[in-house]
Amino acid sequence: MDYQQVIARVAQNWSTVEAEVNNAVADAGRDRNDVRVVGVTKYVDAAATAALVAAGCDQLGENRPQVLWEKAESGLIADSVQWHLIGHLQRNKVRRSLQYRPIIHSIDSPRLLECVAEESHAAGFVTQVMLEVNVSGEANKTGMDQETLEVLVERCSGAKDGASLRNVEVIGLMAMAGWGTDLQAARQQFFLVRKLRDHLRATYRLPLSQLSMGMSGDFQAAIAEGATMVRIGSRLFEGVMEKH
Ligand SMILES: *Cc1c(COP(=O)(O)O)cnc(C)c1O
Repeated sequence: MDYQQVIARVAQNWSTVEAEVNNAVADAGRDRNDVRVVGVTKYVDAAATAALVAAGCDQLGENRPQVLWEKAESGLIADSVQWHLIGHLQRNKVRRSLQYRPIIHSIDSPRLLECVAEESHAAGFVTQVMLEVNVSGEANKTGMDQETLEVLVERCSGAKDGASLRNVEVIGLMAMAGWGTDLQAARQQFFLVRKLRDHLRATYRLPLSQLSMGMSGDFQAAIAEGATMVRIGSRLFEGVMEKH
């Protein structure tokens, strides 16, 4: 497959997915501006990633920090894209990652949030983050259990640790449906994430406006339950993926 074919195929995939997102948003009676499509580019190289940007996607998600660095420095991707880090982030990779000013979806421990806050403070900016919740309760899933998450939200909102966490802006929650869950079960899990968000928002003084949930197989269900960011990968790279 030559690069022109990659460009054409990715553009076609993008418009198909966009149309499905538009339909899901309309079905839910929501505003299209309230749902962002994050193109998950972990399956492809920088050139195919650039093809997605050319198709119109300006929100790119990577789950491995090093790959995000490499692509951001490849010279192939416009500086104007918004990067999203959606996979587990080790603390020793925080400083380097922050150079690219990603939105970090995958804060999966209090220590990681503290580290991001500290490094953001040192760099002189505020980083937008989401707290990852393990809603399916699977042990092999990343994300915090609800109790850990609530304690952390309380700290962010307030009094005690407000100062040490002031360089992070917690904009919402991120979740993945459990492996092998059918659509109905996935939708139920997304519903629970939104309920948890509503509870936290009512209890603590944080806007928590964002819900990052939904992937290629279940984004319609996520949009129906209030997702504001859907993380879509394989659907966008059908026909061009190196792996998957
Ligand atoms: C890979 C990945 C996605 C995208 O998954 P697809 O099913 O390929 O759309 C979304 N979120 C996270 C955290 C991922 O690692």
